[in-house]
Amino acid sequence: MIIAIDGPSGAGKSTVAKLLSKELGFEYIDTGAMYRALAYKAYKNNIDINKEEEISKMLETTEVDYYDNKIFLDGENVEELIRSEIISKASSKISAIRIVREKMVELQRKIAANKNVVMDGRDIGTKVFPNADYKFFITASLEERAKRRYEQLKSKGEAKYENILQDLKKRDENDSTRKFSPLIKAEDAILIDTTDMSIEDVVKSLVNIIGGNNVL
Ligand code: C5P
Repeated sequence: MIIAIDGPSGAGKSTVAKLLSKELGFEYIDTGAMYRALAYKAYKNNIDINKEEEISKMLETTEVDYYDNKIFLDGENVEELIRSEIISKASSKISAIRIVREKMVELQRKIAANKNVVMDGRDIGTKVFPNADYKFFITASLEERAKRRYEQLKSKGEAKYENILQDLKKRDENDSTRKFSPLIKAEDAILIDTTDMSIEDVVKSLVNIIGGNNVL
């Protein structure tokens, strides 16, 4: 069974998807981590992402895998290295490139083959698995998403609410206006606006929808 969870940055998708996968005993696959891993490699190796040949060469010699709730780049667990703001911005850019998307979509389908998975991203219900058993589109207002991110980063002392808001706005714009697989809600996806909901309530409502159909 495939459960697709899409939505904009900072809506709490991955937290919800992780908890849901635990609840259901399914595997969790974070597709954003795959784009982040590629962005990290390009950044580390000074690869110009505007040059298609350079990106193509990198893709040919790069191995990305996701298992055990962790992302692996060329065999190395890079889970901790891909979450910085620099890599967030770079992943937003690299994910707009057609050959990058083609390779990642193929890989995502392969990883999920013959498994029960909860997969989160931007194009899971529209492109990767248009026939997913369940599709959810999880969103929240831009201000609420920026507030949540600010609360997360505040303790590290490096956060400015206004900067976070502007970054999210830019990433929303990149995701929604790119030519290949832009972020849109699949027609048959269930929209969940989490602006006034706790994470627990979101997970409960998804479990109710899935369980209500007697699949659990
Ligand atoms: O979800 P996360 O913020 O970790 O994703 C990093 C970036 O990868 C996003 O800014 C988005 O542009 C891109 N992405 C994508 N398609 C997906 C998952 C993520 O384009 N399925």
